[in-house]
Amino acid sequence: MKIIVMKFGGTSVADINRIKNVASIIRNNFKKNKLVVVLSAMAGVTNKLIEMANEVSCDNEPTEREMDVLLSTGEQTTIALTSMAINALGGKAISLTGAQAGIVTDGEHTKARISNISPDEVHRLLDEDHIVILAGFQGSSPDGRITTLGRGGSDITAVALASSLKADRCDIYTDVDGVYSTDPNIDQTAKKIEKISYEEMLEMSSMGAKVLQTRSVELAMKNNLSLQVLSSITNLPGTMIVNEKDLIEKEVVSGVSYSDKEAKVTISGVPDIPGISAKIFGSLADNNINVDMIVQNISQDGITANLTFTIQENEMDLAKQIIEANKSSIKYTSLSTNANVSKISVIGVGMKSQSGVAQKMFQTLANKHINILAISTSEIKISVLIDKEYTHRAVKSLHIAYSLN
Ligand code: ADP
Ligand code: ASP
Ligand code: MG
Repeated sequence: MKIIVMKFGGTSVADINRIKNVASIIRNNFKKNKLVVVLSAMAGVTNKLIEMANEVSCDNEPTEREMDVLLSTGEQTTIALTSMAINALGGKAISLTGAQAGIVTDGEHTKARISNISPDEVHRLLDEDHIVILAGFQGSSPDGRITTLGRGGSDITAVALASSLKADRCDIYTDVDGVYSTDPNIDQTAKKIEKISYEEMLEMSSMGAKVLQTRSVELAMKNNLSLQVLSSITNLPGTMIVNEKDLIEKEVVSGVSYSDKEAKVTISGVPDIPGISAKIFGSLADNNINVDMIVQNISQDGITANLTFTIQENEMDLAKQIIEANKSSIKYTSLSTNANVSKISVIGVGMKSQSGVAQKMFQTLANKHINILAISTSEIKISVLIDKEYTHRAVKSLHIAYSLN
């Protein structure tokens, strides 16, 4: 019998009827396979828990330890309810928390990484013909603290567990029936992609397509795991994530992604001498702040430079504090931040061997009077930073320009 890991996201278990629907999908798949099912919290629950934590804490930051104890309860609710629903259908389901399933993390609260999985208990339960229902998004630190994996982290649990169990496939069920050329909820003309390479999917996720969490794609690619995205609502075929060599047609541009959770930081009048960038980015890295696009221009005096870079919006205030705290050693003249920006990316493996892709992107945005604030590229991706208000206009016009609709 094959081992299949199925993961259902928040919208798929949003209410009792959806949970019953998920229970029957699981029951139908159980006839042919051994099943491990990873679940998210009901849609909106994690946000609600964060809101409540902030309310009780007043102006104080809740401790990350307590935050993780709280956030992990969302997933615990759905695993218990779904197990009950399966059992009511005559199935034999059993729920496990991350710790019970042997998921050990590095202990970093609210953004833990899985460091090890001991799948013995899961194997034992599968051998006893159970359907194992596992709480996503959580694991235990080596010293037994509950830790969560960061937003969207249930995808990581599913892929990590599938890799550890050497599962035949990992199916990610969600509220759309596959990966589309762009977010189908913002552009109805988006086209479903039948097969996409790991590399393209990784770029799409890291550039904002939240349909798969970025680290989960990275992990699937590393372990060569067969990964599929499909709908828990319709019965349509989904999208397979495959090796590039298995793609018959390599699209020049297969998708357009956007992220409106970006912030731009500009440090002006930075001395143009060796070591300054290392100092700025070193202090941000020490605080786990990930920097994305970087642009540096030399000022007219030739002595100082202006440095612009992007980070996640929710880290903007912390980044500002860190840079201000280092003002005497960086010796800049001014610092400004702006969260009203979005990053738009076009992605495609075929880009590697095709010229003119960037030109088309810039021209399309120019035709729509959208100004580009920063640019970054990789072998299979071009990203630009623009004002947030133009996000949808940019995505739609690029979608048309690359004939994706
Ligand atoms: P889940 O709760 O199942 O984890 P998410 O909300 O995390 O679901 O991810 C699914 C959402 O991802 C879709 O509703 C869609 O709006 C969004 N999305 C963004 N980009 C894409 C894309 N390129 N293809 C499909 N969905 C996308
Ligand atoms: N419940 C968590 C979140 O909302 C994890 C997940 O859904 O994947 O981010
Ligand atoms: Mg998700």
